[in-house]
Amino acid sequence: MKFNVITLFPETIHSLTDYSILGRGIKSKIIEIETYNLRDFGLGKYKQVDDTPYGGGAGMLLKVDILDKAIEKVRAQNKGTFVILLTPKGQKYGQSQAKKLSRKDNITFVCGHYEGFDERIRELVDAEISIGDYVLSGGEIAAAAIIDSVSRLIPGVLGKEESHKDESFEDGMLEYPHYTNPREYKGMSVPEVLLSGNHGEIEKWRKEQAQKVTKDKRPDLK
Ligand code: SAM
Repeated sequence: MKFNVITLFPETIHSLTDYSILGRGIKSKIIEIETYNLRDFGLGKYKQVDDTPYGGGAGMLLKVDILDKAIEKVRAQNKGTFVILLTPKGQKYGQSQAKKLSRKDNITFVCGHYEGFDERIRELVDAEISIGDYVLSGGEIAAAAIIDSVSRLIPGVLGKEESHKDESFEDGMLEYPHYTNPREYKGMSVPEVLLSGNHGEIEKWRKEQAQKVTKDKRPDLK
């Protein structure tokens, strides 16, 4: 799976994706992340990428002609790539979308900055995604969050000992609670069943706990 990111700040993407589980996925060539610096497509001596909004108002907007050039280049180098605009106005992202995206071969993210984009950018992309009902300063954290959550679902990215199968949001449930040493801490103990060695009982307890925690914390999921 290849991810392309069009951004004014390529180094922020790599600082979030080149370590730990994703870093391993990159090293083993299961995933690849390429950044395209929007500044390289800018105009004139100062490589201008933004301009003031028609009608007045605060902030600068990324120019549609500059974004178009960048998207065209990415599309030319990545046949069939699925281009996603990151915007708080997009469809709200969740695990079901992560699963759908994990079945694609090539995805491109367009990260906004400043006040956002010239509206006409919407005609040049395949989807618009928001990672939540809040406003970030740029799309880079959103791109990294989606790359991370999608990559975890690609076979081979998680190690043998790790699995996404029991994780939260699989089957519309939150995950059961985990414990490790020490057995006792400030009067809080590890549930007896987890010390029993009885795998059937442990499995049953985990299922019940997942149902309970989902009902208590996220009744909307079921
Ligand atoms: N003026 C825009 C608005 O009110 O909808 C917000 C612009 S925001 C400061 C700058 C950029 O950050 C956006 O163009 C987008 O790429 C990214 N961004 C901000 N919040 C986001 C979110 N919730 N999901 C995805 N991207 C987001």
